[in-house]
Order: sequence, then structure tokens, then C-alpha cells
Amino acid sequence: MDNHLDAIVIGAGISGAAIGFELSKRGYQTLNIDKLPAAGNGSTSNTCAIIRTHYSTLEGTAIAYDSYFYWKNWANYIGTRDELGLSEFREVGAIIIAYKDHDQNKYAKLHNQLGIPYEVWDPIKLLTRMPHFVDDSFYPPMRPEDPSFNDPPKGKINPSILYYPNNGYINDPILSVHNIQRAAESKGAIFLFNAEVSEIKTKDDRVTGVVLKDGRQFDAPVVVNAAGPHSSIINRMAGIENKMKIKTRALRHEVHFVPSPEEFSYEKEGLVVGDLDISGYHRPETGNKILVGSEDPKCDIKEWINDPDDFNKDVTIEQYHAQVYRLAKRIPSLPIPSNPRGIVDLYDVTDDWIPIYDKSDLKGFYLAIGTSGNQYKNGPVIGQLLSEIIDACEKGNDHDKEPVQVKLRNIDFTIDTGFFSRNREVIQDSSFSVLG
Ligand SMILES: Cc1cc2nc3c(=O)[nH]c(=O)nc-3n(C[C@H](O)[C@H](O)[C@H](O)COP(=O)(O)OP(=O)(O)OC[C@H]3O[C@@H](n4cnc5c(N)ncnc54)[C@H](O)[C@@H]3O)c2cc1C
Repeated sequence: MDNHLDAIVIGAGISGAAIGFELSKRGYQTLNIDKLPAAGNGSTSNTCAIIRTHYSTLEGTAIAYDSYFYWKNWANYIGTRDELGLSEFREVGAIIIAYKDHDQNKYAKLHNQLGIPYEVWDPIKLLTRMPHFVDDSFYPPMRPEDPSFNDPPKGKINPSILYYPNNGYINDPILSVHNIQRAAESKGAIFLFNAEVSEIKTKDDRVTGVVLKDGRQFDAPVVVNAAGPHSSIINRMAGIENKMKIKTRALRHEVHFVPSPEEFSYEKEGLVVGDLDISGYHRPETGNKILVGSEDPKCDIKEWINDPDDFNKDVTIEQYHAQVYRLAKRIPSLPIPSNPRGIVDLYDVTDDWIPIYDKSDLKGFYLAIGTSGNQYKNGPVIGQLLSEIIDACEKGNDHDKEPVQVKLRNIDFTIDTGFFSRNREVIQDSSFSVLG
């Protein structure tokens, strides 16, 4: 391996791989180090990979819309051959159903501001497109063990249903990261797997490299923390965790699979559905199944994880019932197998569920963390934001005083990256949920 490195990226998930790609396009000699055997094998491997623009802030909406164009023109972004083929964007469209008093206008306004296509559907249109749904309201969401769980519905859903034609999901997220790895390698990037970083090397308030668990050492003037749910562990190694206002911590999350109802084929006609009224989301899954996720309603106890290498990776019958029984309220004919099927993984959550894309108090040490269960879609933009922040800071810019302004590539919008600062005040416009 080349001894000279300009940047080490800890992690080869969607964030780390995209940062490696963008830095190598700028001429940096990069090394991505991941403790797992291949790219995208961390929390990215279990993402639901939903590509949507429904975010609560202008910046969040803008980077999601800019990212859409990368997924849409994936071959163009990757720009090289991958022997495994390319991941595919299934642009099936998405709807957001809200409970009665929810402010759907806020989201419509953000979409108007950025020129993002959307439609407002009424319940008649919803039931025409999704005839297996009911338009009753079941808000607030409850646990199935709650005595009121089976009470009759109280009124109807919010009559404004937002439909986003350009939303969808990626069929194979691991492959998408492999694609980015190959793209980065075509620009000279190096990837090292089965290699665990156990120490961050520093000298005179500056990062100088990393030490691996097996004793190997690598030196570079730039090190990026893109370690996903392990971000706080890496920050502790670098001695910076207590120097940031916004913190990250790992949250366990379950997603389940159930078959499509007999009368409606999700494979052929399914949309991505965000259903705030039952605090869940679902989308089509291979094999005419439905993938069922949750928006973490207050009634579900959050399972914060101290050690991201030690948590229950099996779905639990209790959470399976909570998520699929809530969905069965919207879809009364939903088949519910008695054996739960699904996946479990961790979100890396910040105090306001908005990520941190920033420098740190240790010179040369950068952060692409706190993706809060909703940043897979933004991988390509994360690469651009970090590469521009790193390049500007390494050239002497004081990013804390004058945050780097990044002109997005696909839409006419400039991001003030100070929005993603580690030292921001908690952003009150956030949904404080996986919706971002
Ligand atoms: C169940 C679930 C559903 C989701 N659904 C969506 C969705 O629909 N849409 C969306 O946009 N987002 C979604 N997300 C969020 C999205 O998946 C994440 O934001 C994104 O994948 C995070 O990528 P990452 O590269 O930052 O982290 P990871 O993919 O976790 O990558 C971090 C890497 O760092 C490595 N690492 C950690 N510590 C070390 C170390 N000490 N040494 C070496 N390597 C190390 C890990 O092995 C890992 O590979 C979901 C997340 C989950 C868990």
C-alpha cells in the first residue's frame, strides 16, 4: 500500500464511501478503513433505503432533493464499471398521511420554495389509489397491550395527503455502497476491510493518524469519523466528545416484513407510505412483501444502546405486533404471519435528529455522524459537504467562524454548512424523529 495518505476515513458505509469518493476526485490520497469485511456492511446494510424529500427543515429538504438526482442518474455519478452491476432506484412515489392537526402546509411550502414536484390528494384520491386502505384516524398511536388499542376510530385522517412522485427506494443498498467504492477506487482511493481502529493518534492538538486493533498504524493529516452508530466511541478516542454541544448515541430499531394483502400487489402497485397517524411507514419489498417501519411514537420505549457491538439483533414479538397491528388499522386485510420476520439495526441519533457534518476541536479531525435514521438517501451529498469542508479547513478557513457555503450540484441552492454544526443550538424546526 502507498505509504503517503492525505486522508483516512473511518467507516465504509454510505457516508464514508461517498466521502472517500469525493476527496479522491479532488486529488486526495484516501484510505477508508472498516472493521467489517466489505463496504456497506454496517448499519447501511439494513437501511430501508427510502428516497424522499419530506423533511422538516429547508436545508434537510434541499439536500434530499439534490440527492434524488444522484440516485436518478446513478450510472453517471458512479462513472465506472462495477463487476457486480449497479443498484437501482425504484421511483414508485410516496405519500404522507397525517393526523388531523398536523401542519402539512409546512412541508408543501418547503417543496414550493425548492420547486419540488408534489400533489395534494384528498381521501377519495387516496382510497382510489390505495383501495385496501381505510381513511379513519387512529391517532394517537398506542401499544397493542393498551386497553384502548381496539377502540373505534376517532374521526378521519388529515384531508391533505401529500404525494411526491419522485420518491421511492433503492433496491440494494449494500450494492450501492459497493458501487461508490468502485467509483472511488477508480480515482485512486484505497479501502481496507477487517481492520478496526482502536486509537486516534494526535500531536500538538492535531490528528496524525490511527492505530488498528492488530497494531498496524496509518498516518494522515486528515481523519474523518464516518463510523455510523460507533461515532461516539470514535469521538471518545479522539478526546472530543465533551467538546461538542450536540451529542450522538445509538438507538435500536426494528423493521418487519409481512405479505401484501391478497387484493393489492405491493410489488406491482405499492407506494412508499409515511403514515404519521399511526406513526409508521411502509414500502414494497422484494417478493411482493411489505416492509413495515416505525416513526418511534412516544408510547414505544426507546432502546438506547451503550455498546453498539452488543445489542439484541433479533426482532421481538412485542415490537412486531406493535408495528404490524398499527399498520393493520390502515390495512384491515393485512396478513400477519405468527412468526415475526424482519431486521434490527441501530440509528446514530443526535439531540435534534439532524446530522453533524463538521470539523471538530481536534485539528484535522472531521465528523460525518448522527445520521439519525434518515441519511442513507443523502450519501452522495454527504460526500460533497465533507470534501468541501475538509478542503476549505485544510486551506486555513475558520469554519466555526465562517461556515463553508456549499453550492449543491443538482439544484440551485447553497447550503450554509453551519446548519450541521456540532455546536449548533438544538434545531427546533426538526421533527425530532426519523423524519428529520
Ligand atoms: C433500520 C434502519 C432503517 C433506515 N431507513 C432509512 C431510509 O429508509 N432512508 C434513509 O435515508 N436512511 C435510512 N436509515 C438511515 C441510514 O441507513 C443511515 O443514515 C446510513 O446508512 C448511515 O451510514 P453511515 O455510513 O454513516 O454508517 P454505517 O453504514 O453504519 O457505516 C459505519 C461503518 O463504520 C465502521 N466502523 C465503526 N467503528 C469502526 C472502527 N472502530 N474501525 C473501523 N471501522 C469502524 C462500521 O463497521 C460501519 O461499516 C435507516 C437506518 C436503519 C438502521
